[in-house]
Amino acid sequence: MINFAQNFQIIDEARFSFCYNEETFLQAIYQETMKVMKFGGTSVGSAQRMKNMVALVAAAGDVTVVLSAMSGTTNSLLSLSQSILEGENGNALKQIDDLEKKYLETASELLSSAHLLEEANKDIRGKFSALREYVGKPFSDKEAKEVVAFGEKLSTMLVSLYMKEKGLNAVLLDATEFMKINSDGEPDQEFIKENVNAVIARNPGKDIYLTQGFICRNVNGEIDNLQRGGSDYTASLIGAAIAADEIQIWTDIDGMHNNDPRFVDETSPVGELHFEEAAELAYFGAKILHPTCVLPAKYANIPVRLLNTMQPEAPGTVIYNAKPTHTIKAVAAKDNITAIKIKSSHMLLAYGFLRKIFEIFEHYQTSIDMITTSEVGVSVTIDNKRNLQPILEELASLGEVTVDDDMVIICVVGDLEWQNRGFEAEVVNALKEIPVRMISYGGSNYNISLLIKKEDKIKALKLLSQHLF
Ligand code: ADP
Ligand code: ASP
Ligand code: MG
Repeated sequence: MINFAQNFQIIDEARFSFCYNEETFLQAIYQETMKVMKFGGTSVGSAQRMKNMVALVAAAGDVTVVLSAMSGTTNSLLSLSQSILEGENGNALKQIDDLEKKYLETASELLSSAHLLEEANKDIRGKFSALREYVGKPFSDKEAKEVVAFGEKLSTMLVSLYMKEKGLNAVLLDATEFMKINSDGEPDQEFIKENVNAVIARNPGKDIYLTQGFICRNVNGEIDNLQRGGSDYTASLIGAAIAADEIQIWTDIDGMHNNDPRFVDETSPVGELHFEEAAELAYFGAKILHPTCVLPAKYANIPVRLLNTMQPEAPGTVIYNAKPTHTIKAVAAKDNITAIKIKSSHMLLAYGFLRKIFEIFEHYQTSIDMITTSEVGVSVTIDNKRNLQPILEELASLGEVTVDDDMVIICVVGDLEWQNRGFEAEVVNALKEIPVRMISYGGSNYNISLLIKKEDKIKALKLLSQHLF
């Protein structure tokens, strides 16, 4: 039996130990597994892609399906919001018309049944009339968030009608009924758990529960979202809330690669990652995952699998409590970093100095990514410059402050437990031609971070691939 489980890359093999042949194993796996499948923008980017993803869902058995907006739509909605904000009404209306045309075309390509196509067209026209209502009226952040939410509402509406056409036992759930963020903008996991399960219970016996990624409500009950790329986060939050067996993130690449494929040729997929490794990579710039989406899965101990809709047979990457491998796994880069150095002649033996520094960042709700210290000073990095000016003014009372802007964090991830000799030397050696502003190692067993100049980023990523993989 164990062999079947291995063939299917089942992590918890013991669960299927009663299966005596492949057939009973397949039956068991389909009956038992409630998966979450999330499809990103390219995976729903055209009528044909929607058809392909629905075929994958239909083959999967009991699933909750989370969809992004069609690729390009979120950017278009943000751009037309900008036009409305700037009072460029003609421009905004033109963008709305163009987008509506695209959706009407997609619907007619997707749906063969006349009455379902009529239903889709009616819905599209209704949603785009609602969008036109925003033009020429007062437009704040609140309205902008309502506008950007239309992307996921449109994609799920189309896919749900196509599922109906295919005779699938599916129901479309409105994510704004159960996805909620608190006053800090963080997901309210208790609310989500209670409400997503209640909504599912009100719709019993379905094979497919379909919903929107990204969108949610905030503490005031207004439409909000989980930030760009947030559909991944929706999927893992729902996965944790319903205690799914697996969370699958279906995208346009065959898993987490060992370096950023947008900048480095010849990257290759990493088969397995520990939750911590994946969390570091996502937070430090691996765009395939939303920065915080691994966390709910990690706390609920649910494996996350990264898969390619264009190549569904590829094994992709599985993220779980993987055993240490004594290897370096992957590299990522995070842009738009600002380094701040505070130098004080009084730091030596001055307890409380670090606390005073951290309090200033806390006061301005600015989180610190990297930190290095010496006897005379401290360097920290931030990725949010909204309150940089007042932060610098307050820091000036503690010592001499210098700022380096436009920096990049290079994050090297793997089994970097400190007793594993030689890895930090390999990393530093690979980058010997590049000026390095900060190095941080030992904060976890999984990462070494280095701060370099923006213009050295691509060279650094390439050098690391050459030396490490
Ligand atoms: P989706 O729209 O499905 O959410 P994204 O564009 O958000 O997809 O994420 C997939 C993209 O992430 C890939 O096409 C790739 O260009 C980029 N990417 C960046 N770093 C990595 C990495 N280390 N491994 C895989 N893909 C990466
Ligand atoms: N549609 C949203 C975005 O483009 C959310 C997502 O795709 O995950 O950011
Ligand atoms: Mg994404």
